Amino acid sequence: MSQTLKEAATFPTDMKRSEYKMVINGETVGALSNETFTVYNPATGEAVAEVPKGGKEDVDRAVEAARQSFDHGKWKRYPAGKRARVLNKIASIMRKRFNELVEIEIINSGKTLMAAQGQVMQAIEDFEFYAGAIVGHRGTVNNMPGPFFNYTQKEPIGVAGQIIPWNYPIMMAAWKIAPAIAAGCSVVLKPASLTPITAIILTEICHEAGVPAGVVNVITGPGASIGSYLVEHKGVDKVAFTGETATGKDIMAKASETLKRVTLELGGKSPNLVFPDADIDGAVDGSLFGIFYNTGQSCEARSRLFIHESIYDEFMEKFIDKTKKLKLGDPMSQDTHIGAIINQGQLDKIHQYVETAKKEGATVVTGGESVKVDGYENGYWYAPTVITNVTNDMTVAQEEIFGPVVVVMTFKDEKEAVKLANDTKYGLAAAIWAKDQGLIKRVSDGIQAGIIMVNSPFSAFPGTPFGGYKQSGFGRELSIESLDLYTETKSVLSYTGAKPLNPFNL
Ligand code: NAD
Repeated sequence: MSQTLKEAATFPTDMKRSEYKMVINGETVGALSNETFTVYNPATGEAVAEVPKGGKEDVDRAVEAARQSFDHGKWKRYPAGKRARVLNKIASIMRKRFNELVEIEIINSGKTLMAAQGQVMQAIEDFEFYAGAIVGHRGTVNNMPGPFFNYTQKEPIGVAGQIIPWNYPIMMAAWKIAPAIAAGCSVVLKPASLTPITAIILTEICHEAGVPAGVVNVITGPGASIGSYLVEHKGVDKVAFTGETATGKDIMAKASETLKRVTLELGGKSPNLVFPDADIDGAVDGSLFGIFYNTGQSCEARSRLFIHESIYDEFMEKFIDKTKKLKLGDPMSQDTHIGAIINQGQLDKIHQYVETAKKEGATVVTGGESVKVDGYENGYWYAPTVITNVTNDMTVAQEEIFGPVVVVMTFKDEKEAVKLANDTKYGLAAAIWAKDQGLIKRVSDGIQAGIIMVNSPFSAFPGTPFGGYKQSGFGRELSIESLDLYTETKSVLSYTGAKPLNPFNL
C-alpha cells in the first residue's frame, strides 16, 4: 500500500459527489422511474448522497445487459491470463484511490478508520488473489479403462445475481465481484440500501480497468422488491447472497423455482473459548477485538465468550477494564476503536436485546445504553456492553445482536466447552485460546463451524475459505473454492478405439 496511515488520516471531510447512479451496460444511469433515496452518515445522521431507487424494470435491463455480455460478449472467451490482467488493473486503480475509498466507506457506514482501511485493503487484495487463482483454475484429465479418454473443463456458470449487506460494503462487493468475473461470469450486484456508494464506485473502477460493458452491473433499491425480483429472474443463473439468515431462507426458496445455483453467507453467534492454559493477556486483547471490531456489526463477531471457570475472575477483571477503555468518537481518527451503529433501527434492536437479557436474569456489567458522543450528537452510538450471569439458552446467547454486545459464560472442561459452542443454530466461526496443541486439535475437530481461529482474532485473509455450517449458510468465499461456485464442471468422454462401438450388437 502506497499510503501511510498518517496520510490516510488527513482526509478532506466532504463527500466527493452528492449523487451516485446505478451502472448498467457500462453506463451510469438513474432509475427509469427517476425516483431516488437518500443515504446517510450514521456517525452524524447527515444526508450524504442521493441514489436511484431502482424498480423491477431496472432489474430487467441490468439482467439483460449481463445476459447479452455473457451469451454474446468476449469476456468469458478471454484467456484467463487476460482477465487476470484486468483484475490486477482494478486492484491497482483501487490502490491509487485508497484514501478516497476509505473516506467514503467511513462516511457511508460510520465505521472507524482502522476498520475501513483494513477492509478496503482486503477488497483490493481479493482482486489480486483471484487474478492469480484463475490462471491455475483448470479441469482434469482422468484415467479411463480401455479405449476411452476423459477430461473436464471449468465453464463460467453465467449471470450471477449478487446481493450484499451493509456491514462490510466494499469488502462484500469485492468478495462477490472478483471471483465471479475472474471465472468469466457476468454480474448484477445489489448493495444494501444503507451503504451503496463504494459498490457503485467499484463498478465504475471495473469499467475503467477494462471490464467490458454489461459484465458488471450495479442496481440500487429496496431488497424486498428488487433483490427478491433479481433472485427470481429467469435471466439469472446463480444467486450469491450475504445477509441475515431469515433473508437467506427466503432467497433459497425463491431461487428453487428456477433451480439456480445458490451461495449463502448468513448470520452467526460465534463462540470464543478461553482455556486455562491460554496466555490470558493475549486472550483478553483478542477476545476484545473479536467482539468489538467493526462495532460488533460482523457476521463472525465472537459474541459468546466462554471462559474456563478457573480463570474467570482474572480474565473478566482485565476484559472489563479494557472494554471501558474503548474509545467511541470521530470515525476518521486513528485513536477511535468503536464507530457508529448503522441506523436508529439497529440501535433500538441492540438495546432491546440488552433489556431482554436483564428481564431473563442476566447482569449488564458495563455499557448497556446508547451514548452521546461529543461532536456527533445526531449519530447512532452504543456503549461497548458486557453481559454476565448468562445461560446459553437465553435470547442474547442464541440470537444475533449485531452490535457491540458480548455475553459471557463459563465452562468446566473441554467436553462442556464444545457442547456449549455447538449449542446454536449458527456455525460460522469460533475462536480457541489455549496452548495445549492436543486440546486445540480436539476442540477444532469438535466445533461445527466453517472458520476456527486459534490464538488469533483474525478470521480471514484472501485465500482462506470463509463460510458457515448449519444456518450460517453454505459455500466458501474468499478462497480458491469460490471459483468452483462460479463455474460448472463439464466432463468430456471420448471413445478412442479403432472400430466403431456397437453396444446393442445389432
Ligand atoms: P439483510 O438480509 O437484511 O440484507 C442483505 C441484503 O439483502 C441487502 O442488500 C438487502 O437489501 C437485501 N434483501 C433484503 N430482503 C431481501 C429479499 N427478500 N430478497 C432479496 N434481497 C433482499 O442483512 P443486513 O441487515 O444488510 O446485514 C446483516 C446480516 O448479514 C447479518 O445477519 C450478518 O451476520 C450477515 N452477514 C453475513 C456474512 C457472512 O459472510 N456470513 C458477512 C456479512 C454479513
